[in-house]
Amino acid sequence: MCKEKFMQEAVNAALKGMQNNEGGPFGCVVVKDGKIIGRGNNRVTSTNDPTAHAEVMAIRDACKNLDSFQLEGCEIYTSCEPCPMCLGAIYWARPDKVYYGSNQADAANIGFDDAFIYKEIPLPYTERSIPFEQLVPEIAITPFQEWEKKEDKTEY
Ligand SMILES: [Zn+2]
Repeated sequence: MCKEKFMQEAVNAALKGMQNNEGGPFGCVVVKDGKIIGRGNNRVTSTNDPTAHAEVMAIRDACKNLDSFQLEGCEIYTSCEPCPMCLGAIYWARPDKVYYGSNQADAANIGFDDAFIYKEIPLPYTERSIPFEQLVPEIAITPFQEWEKKEDKTEY
C-alpha cells in the first residue's frame, strides 16, 4: 500500500468512529513493513476517557500486537496533526516518522483548539490555568533512588 492509502485508512477510522458516536473526528493507523499493525480512533466521549485520542489508541493497539513498548521501524499516519498529549505519546513510542492529514488550524476551525496547551507549557507553574505546585520532593525522590539501585529493571 502507498502512503496515501494508509492516510485514507486513518481518515476512514476517523469517519467510522465519528459515525458510530465513539468520539471526535480523528483516526490513526500505525504501519510497519508496509502493513497496518495498529488502528485507533477517538473514543473520548464513548469511554469517558479524555486520553482516548486516535494516536494513543493506535499506539496501544500497535504495541499490543508487536508485544513491545516501542514502535521502532514504524510509521504513524494520523488524520490530524497530533495534539501536545499525542505528540508526547509519539515521542515515547519512538516511531520512525509521522504523516498527518489536517493540521492544527483545521482542527481549531471546528472547535478542537489545542494551541492553548502549547501556550501553557512555557508559563511559570503558578500562571498556568491549572496551577502546579511541588510538594515534599524529599519524599518523592525515593522511587528514583530505588530505581537507580534496582538490578533487574527493564530500561527504556
Ligand atoms: Zn491527541
